[in-house]
Order: sequence, then structure tokens, then C-alpha cells
Amino acid sequence: MAADLGPRAMFVAGGTDLFPKLKRRQFEVDSLIGLDFLQREIRNGSNECVIQAGVTLAHASRDTNLNTRFTGYAEAAGLVSSPPLRNAGTIGGNLCVDTRCNYYDMTYEWRKAAGFCLKKDGDICLVAPSSPRCWAVSSSDTAPMAIALGGLVTLVGADGERELPVTALYRDDGDRYMAKHADEVVTGLRLRRAPNTRSAYVKLRRRGSIDFPIAGAAVAVELEDEVVENCRIVLTAVASYPLESKGAEDFLKGKRLQADAIREAAEIASKPAKPLDNADLSHFWRKRMVRVVVEQALTRVSDQQPGLDG
Ligand SMILES: Cc1cc2nc3c(=O)[nH]c(=O)nc-3n(C[C@H](O)[C@H](O)[C@H](O)COP(=O)(O)OP(=O)(O)OC[C@H]3O[C@@H](n4cnc5c(N)ncnc54)[C@H](O)[C@@H]3O)c2cc1C
Ligand code: SF4
Repeated sequence: MAADLGPRAMFVAGGTDLFPKLKRRQFEVDSLIGLDFLQREIRNGSNECVIQAGVTLAHASRDTNLNTRFTGYAEAAGLVSSPPLRNAGTIGGNLCVDTRCNYYDMTYEWRKAAGFCLKKDGDICLVAPSSPRCWAVSSSDTAPMAIALGGLVTLVGADGERELPVTALYRDDGDRYMAKHADEVVTGLRLRRAPNTRSAYVKLRRRGSIDFPIAGAAVAVELEDEVVENCRIVLTAVASYPLESKGAEDFLKGKRLQADAIREAAEIASKPAKPLDNADLSHFWRKRMVRVVVEQALTRVSDQQPGLDG
């Protein structure tokens, strides 16, 4: 159906992001294709688990195995928006959720009065007028955690099924932020961890009860005798895609997760984050807080009790 109907149709899963945006005329479509048929099961293994795309965020956040072995993912799912929205919002929808910007997440009338921008109806970026691109911010809570936990996503479209790393789902472009084909449906997410992996997600937002992140850090660390063998550090809400900090990951390898190493890694991780003035609170402050959320996430991991596998 999506391939036949083209850009005037959109998929809808829980509708928690899509419906408010339809009301604000951020999307104008003729048809919605319901994804109620998506499966809603979590298939758990000790070092791998498959979460079908129809699973709600509430379900994922309560799952015992996810909480024990993929802790950061369960934490991220449990921190999305508010309880009613987590009961309806799906993990597939959270991977595909639209990018955000203060000039775009407004009513049609507001945007018309202020002047439209290139993400919808206009031809310049109001945040960076000399830039040819859109800088809207990737704000999914679970996407960075899925990347940190080696996530693979399954896509099904008119051309069949394929699996690709979650990181390959995204583009560094606030407007055309997804790299998948428009007719492809996310049907599942496979998370993988090496034994002795611990993970955590730390989110900063204005109101703890509902808001999107203004900075978030997803970390997964594989430890051997308390020494870091491997680690992934992925940031949210600081770029148009989930931003991985390779510099900090390399820095931590071979080190113990002690306070001074954590502090330095957090400093390195915050360097590539360049938030613009298009989200909640001052972008200078948000930039400074990136170091803090990374430090908190790494400290949480170092304080976690060894899991079932050591
Ligand atoms: C007040 C409020 C606060 C929010 N706070 C947060 C927050 O803190 N963190 C956060 O991450 N999100 C937040 N959201 C956004 C939203 O609730 C979540 O991202 C939710 O997970 C979206 O899932 P959904 O199933 O409702 O997606 P939908 O709204 O149904 O769809 C979202 C987008 O994904 C596409 N889509 C959905 N499922 C699929 C699929 N399986 N395959 C392909 N495309 C698909 C849709 O076409 C649409 O473009 C908030 C929303 C509101 C209204
Ligand atoms: S970053 Fe610029 S183009 Fe993108 S939504 Fe905001 S104002 Fe519009």
C-alpha cells in the first residue's frame, strides 16, 4: 500500500507522535496505513533478544529480561514521554519518530505568522538561515540505546525483507532524517550484548513527567575483570541523528571505570555535540550538560552489580 500510495500516505503505529503533528498540519496526508498487524512479542535470549515493532514502550520497560540484561534499553523505554503515551507508543514508532525543532513543532497558524521553514512549506532554515539544510534534532530515547547495544533493525517493504544496523537507519539531515525507503516498515529490533555487558541511559529534560530529552546519554560497556573491553557511547538530542562518540569509546578501552577516567571520557564525548538554539532551554547550557549526562551514565554502569553472567 505504501509503495502504491507514495508520499501522500503515512504509517501509523501508536499515533502518539503522528496525531498531534497531523493536527498542527506538520504532515498533510490523504491516507494513513495502520500498523496494528505488527507483532507484539519480546523473544528473550541471554545475550540477544528480539523485540517486535508493535511492542509498546510500557511493555518493554517492564520486561524482566530486558531490565536484567539490557538494562539501558528498558530504562530508555520507561523514560519516553508519559505513562499514557508509553501504553500506546511502540518501539518501532520510537525508532522512526520525527526530528524536533522549536520553529517546526508549532501550529500551522504560528508557523504561518513566523514564516515557514524548509522542513515544511518554506525554503530557509530559521535557526541557521545561511545553511542549506535543516538542523532539527533527533530526540528518540530508545534509538541511541539500541545503537549502543549493537541493535539490528528488520525492515519489510515492497522489495522484501532486510536487516541493518540501527545506526544505518538515520541520516545527518533534520528534514530527511531516515535512510530507510519510504515504503519500508520496521518490524523488529534485535539487541545483542557480549557477556559481562552493563548498560545505562541518562536523560535530561525540563519536566520529568513528560518531556522529550534535551540531552541524553546511552552507554553499554563490556567489562573483563573490571577493565573496559568494549564500549559504546551514543548521545541523543544534540544532532539530527543519534551521535556516537568514538573518541570517548576508544579512550575508555583498557581502562577501569574509575572517577577520573569517567570524567575525562565524558569530556571527550561531549566535544562533537553541537546543539543549536532550536530546542528547550539554552543551547550553551545543553552543550555543557552533555558532559554531565555521559558522566552520570558511566558512573551508573560502574556502580551496577555484575549481572547474571559475571
Ligand atoms: C507530549 C509528548 C511527549 C513525548 N515525549 C517523548 C520522549 O520523551 N521521548 C521520545 O522518544 N518520544 C516522545 N514523544 C513521541 C512519541 O510519543 C514516541 O516517540 C513514541 O514512541 C512514538 O511511537 P508511536 O508508535 O506512537 O509512533 P507514531 O506516532 O504512530 O509514528 C511516529 C512516526 O513513525 C512512523 N512509524 C511508526 N511505526 C513505524 C514502523 N513500525 N515502521 C515504519 N515507520 C513507522 C510513523 O509513520 C511516524 O512517522 C512524545 C510525544 C508527545 C505527544
Ligand atoms: S532546523 Fe531550520 S529547517 Fe529545520 S525545522 Fe528548524 S527552522 Fe525548520
